[in-house]
Amino acid sequence: SVNPQTKAWQDISQKHHLAPFSDYKDLRPRIITKAKGVYLWDSEGQKILDGMAGLWCTALGYGREELVEAASRQMRELPFYNTFFKTAHPPVLELARTIAEITPGNLNHLFFTGGGSEGNDTMLRLVRHYWASKGMPEKQIIISRKNAYHGSTVAGASLGGMKPMHEQGGLPIPGIVHIAQPYWFAEGGDLDEETFGIQVADELEKKIQALGENKIAAFIAEPIQGAGGVIVPPASYWPRIREILAKYDILFVADEVICGFGRTGEWFGSDYYGNQPDLMTIAKGLTSGYVPMGGLVVSDKVYQQIKEVGDFNHGFTYSGHPVAAAVALENIRILREENIVETVKTQTAPYFQKRLRELCAHPLVGEVRGVGLLGAIELVKDKASRTRYPEAQAVGMMCREHCFNNGLVMRAVGDTMIIAPPLVISKTEVDELVEKATLCLDLTQKQLGA
Ligand code: PMP
Repeated sequence: SVNPQTKAWQDISQKHHLAPFSDYKDLRPRIITKAKGVYLWDSEGQKILDGMAGLWCTALGYGREELVEAASRQMRELPFYNTFFKTAHPPVLELARTIAEITPGNLNHLFFTGGGSEGNDTMLRLVRHYWASKGMPEKQIIISRKNAYHGSTVAGASLGGMKPMHEQGGLPIPGIVHIAQPYWFAEGGDLDEETFGIQVADELEKKIQALGENKIAAFIAEPIQGAGGVIVPPASYWPRIREILAKYDILFVADEVICGFGRTGEWFGSDYYGNQPDLMTIAKGLTSGYVPMGGLVVSDKVYQQIKEVGDFNHGFTYSGHPVAAAVALENIRILREENIVETVKTQTAPYFQKRLRELCAHPLVGEVRGVGLLGAIELVKDKASRTRYPEAQAVGMMCREHCFNNGLVMRAVGDTMIIAPPLVISKTEVDELVEKATLCLDLTQKQLGA
């Protein structure tokens, strides 16, 4: 039973709120009312450690006054103006220059969006326009990966490789194909990790040859697949993929919506793997989630071509919204001045990864993996044979529920438990996270009667 105010809000939810990712048969959400640092509070007064940074969003954690100040200053000065028809404003220009400074290589040109999905939509139109404008209109196919998540718009969900999403609405749209993800724990069989990495990467070349060598416009992937289950690729995977993309002159698109802005201990997941993408989508950590904003970062090479053509008929009302841009600028200023990405790399991430791996000893845990402040715990019925519970999704949800009830947010992707705390989490808070995760694994194991 819940307090009357919670009950009233849950009733509204049932009647009026189409919350995504909820169970439509039982729309009684937990009501989150406030947050500070790495903690949330719900309408029942429970304090919860946010092990998912909102939704892989908040780098700086909650309650940073500087971001509030930046937003209110900008609202007073210029709350809104568009960036169409030869107009711009200082915050969007400063932000474009700042992002160009921190993104790898020649990624120097910014198109801003309202979020990650719009960034990937923009990418799809832009890369097809790029090849057509170079006199290669047959280069139109985009290769993505199974189980990838690249957004919920028609293009985003098509680029994504989530079967249940494809089944609703007749997706993917034409010209998008999917190859395997480098998910060694579940699909590696008897192969060692590095051999498996090469084998999965080689699927890209096979797919290119099957479809026609001169028909592929781009390959899109996250450096580490996030919502697909925190799939950390074997070390052999990215070097092989890079070779293949270069061989067939295919644009490389990095979806950095989750990996970007410090999550891996580098500014971008592409830096972590030494990848040099031609285009990059960003969102989430860009503003720490305080205001919605995303973007597509375009390399000199792609930009020069589009500039030569002189036209790309594309733009959103909220592209480069001044308030969002001001918050993003302040967010990046703090990340830089407080050395947060470096601290993740040298202090917090090594500690977090070490403590998380202690959970490998738990009877319910088949594997723990992760990079930076990204982690995944695979729940298994039998450790040695990596046998999973048949009702994987239910087991994951069970564990997630125990976490919530004991003051910790973890996400369940099937029976893979995902962790991605705010980048500012302290070592003491990491200890608390691991302690709570252990308790939740115990409770799940007990409920399973194992
Ligand atoms: N790409 C990735 C890798 C994501 O994780 C997400 C959001 N979870 C998106 C794209 C879509 O971003 P948005 O929800 O801001 O549209």
